[in-house]
Order: sequence, then structure tokens, then C-alpha cells
Amino acid sequence: EARRVPRSEHPISRSQFTQGTLRTLYGLKDAGYQAYVVGGGVRDLLAGQTPKDFDVATDAHPEDVKRIFRSCQLIGRRFVICHVRWGAEVVEVTTFRGALTDEHERDETGRILADNEYGTLESDAFRRDFTVNALYYDIRDYAIVDFVGGLEDMQARLVRLIGDPELRYREDPVRMLRAVRIANKLGFTIEKNTAAPIPKLAGLLREIPPARLFDEVIKVLQSREALANLEGLHRFGLLKPILPFTEAAMDDPCLGVFLRRAMANTAERIVNEQTVSPAFLYAALLWPGVVAEYQRLIRDEGEHPNVAIAQASEAVLARTLSTIMIPKRFSLPMREIWALQPRLEQTRGGRAKRLLAHPRFRAAYDFLLLRAACGELPQALADWWTKAQTGELPPAPVDPEDHA
Ligand code: ATP
Ligand code: MG
Repeated sequence: EARRVPRSEHPISRSQFTQGTLRTLYGLKDAGYQAYVVGGGVRDLLAGQTPKDFDVATDAHPEDVKRIFRSCQLIGRRFVICHVRWGAEVVEVTTFRGALTDEHERDETGRILADNEYGTLESDAFRRDFTVNALYYDIRDYAIVDFVGGLEDMQARLVRLIGDPELRYREDPVRMLRAVRIANKLGFTIEKNTAAPIPKLAGLLREIPPARLFDEVIKVLQSREALANLEGLHRFGLLKPILPFTEAAMDDPCLGVFLRRAMANTAERIVNEQTVSPAFLYAALLWPGVVAEYQRLIRDEGEHPNVAIAQASEAVLARTLSTIMIPKRFSLPMREIWALQPRLEQTRGGRAKRLLAHPRFRAAYDFLLLRAACGELPQALADWWTKAQTGELPPAPVDPEDHA
């Protein structure tokens, strides 16, 4: 039984949607179809936040959507979604999904194999993950439609999975990451039964395709809530299956501080509308693994630092890529940030001058500051590089030998 809340009894106004969203909704409606805004857009507006984007759900099939909007691009093979382009804006349109039944074939961990039937507004609602993500804004009369108690959960500030939590996590383990992310984004609590199975099921994240995991980690940690999300992943045991090097360092007195500072920096940059590169983010997350191997190679194998850092980078990256696919365009600069670390520890001679001109100097210097802040390096070395950027090279203050 759906609850309909008329426009007079909820705060969402049409003027809060983007032009592209409104054009898409009216294009579908004028062609005789149902059209709703659903998901994070409705949720965030009800919570008083500014949504990232708006998703549209409709009973029109992808071919119909394509006929209505010439700019429509069909994405995906199994379950097709439509990207409708309005200038720079892209609106994602999905056709109502059909109900899942026991007839649907599942793999050994519980994931659905074939699933491409279309359905109704109601079946679509029950396919969504959290109740607060299953609220529909109807463009016909501006009412909000709620099949799953999402409005009550908005009031109670709860992130609650629709249906049986364990089943829903097995269908798609990424929902565990989404629960943490959405709760922190809204300042909500993860409802008790939704939170309870997470530690036990966390290992299912190992089954997620590495390319999808890369995207999801970016969404969780390249965010205003990066620090709270990192702590949340750690608390629920979600870091271990996806970022074991990060997990192992969370309780380390130095590296734990390094990681938290890196996340706090990331969040601050996003708040200040500065860019955050996935290369820098992953350089920080994987550093605990790299630095341990780097130090071992120098200490036990007598390797030169420049060789040790290259080998350690190679080893950590190789072990990471089977779980998380880091694209080359990010892994190359990430390795450069690491490679510059031992070079930054040598402040003498003309080398320092050349380093200042290195295209990756700024990122490597920011990285060095984080290492110094947690006591991995002397603060005097960080200060030296800070001064060096203002003009004349200061006298060499720290010698590698001084803090070996
Ligand atoms: P945000 O856009 O702020 O990251 P969102 O909830 O809008 O959050 P999207 O990835 O844009 O996240 O997904 C849009 C909607 O699609 C969700 O609100 C939810 O209804 C549905 N959805 C997304 N991912 C899943 C999933 N893994 N399982 C079920 N439904 C999902
Ligand atoms: Mg969204």
C-alpha cells in the first residue's frame, strides 16, 4: 500500500530540480508515460542538502526513451539505462525494474545472474537499496510516493535496507559501502538490523569486479565525509577485504595518524572546491604497504632507496590490482609521488633545484607534509622544502644520516 504525500504537505519544489531534469520529466509525461525523480536527489532535498544529480524513473522502455529524446544514449547491456543529454547536463533515466522472485537464478554467494525484466513503480521501489532511496516525486501532481516507509525513516534519520538485510547484501555487497557512505553524508544512523550483518558479510566485497570497486572506493573516500567514512569502513570490517594495507595501519600510532590526516585533507580540499586526484588518494591509502616494504628492502637487502621505493611500489601495486583496478592514468602519477619521497629526503646540491621543477613536485611535497606530521620524517625536512619554494635554497638542515 503506497503512501502519497501531496505537494502541500512536503517541502520539495519543482524549482529545486535542474532544467535538464524538468525537461526530461515533461518530455516523458507529454509522451504519455509516468515519470518520477527518485533516489539521492529526493533524499538529499528532503534532508536539506544539495543533491549531486537527479535520477529519473519511468515506465517507458529504453527504446521509447530513445524515440522521445534524440540525445539519449543507451548504456549497459543487461539492464539498460538511458543518458539524456541537455547541454553539459546528463540525466539518467531508468525503466521500472521487475520484482525479484525465487525463480531468479543466483550464484553461490547470492548474486542475481539474469535479471532484465521491466516492472511497475511498486516493483521498482522494492528493488532499491535503502528506504530513503526509494521515494518518488511524481511530475503529474508533485506528490511524493512511498511504498517502503522511507518518509518515516527520513524523520527518524535512519538508513534501513528494504527487505531482508542479509539477502540484500548478498545480492549486491556494494550496498555495505553505500550504507556507510549515505549514513555519514546525511548524519543518519544505520538502522540496527541493517548494520548487524555487515561485519560477517564484509568479505563478500572480494567478489566485486575490480573496476567497480575502484569507483566505489572513490565515492566513499574522495568525499566531504572521507574521514568519517574511513572510520566507518574500519569499524565494520569493510577495509580489510578491499584495502588490506590500509586496514593493517589503522591502529598504528604513526601510519594511523597519516591515513586520518590524508582523509581530513581530502575532505577539506573538497569543501574548498580544490581538486583531489585519485592518484594522491590511492598513494596515501597504499602507503602503509609501500613504506613497510621500502624499509625492509633497505634494511634487510641493502637496496639503494631509489631502487627500494620502485620495487616496493611495484609489489604493492601488483597485490592491489587483483582487487581494485586502478587505471594507469592514476597509478602512474601515484607511483611518481612515491618515487619522489626518497629524493625529497636528500636536500643537498643541484638535485633539490631540479626537484622543485618536477611536474609532480607539489603532490609529492604535500605527501611529504603528511609523513612529517605523523612523525615519519623530521618536521625540519618538511620546513626546508616549504622554504625552498619561496626562492633561494636554504642551507641543508637535515642530512639523511641525521634521522636514519
Ligand atoms: P549519490 O548520488 O548521492 O551518491 P544515490 O543514492 O543517488 O546517492 P546513485 O548511485 O546515484 O546513488 O543511485 C541512484 C539510486 O539508485 C539510489 O538512490 C537507489 O535508489 C538506487 N541504487 C543505487 N545503487 C543501488 C544498489 N546497489 N542496489 C539497489 N539500488 C541501488
Ligand atoms: Mg544519485
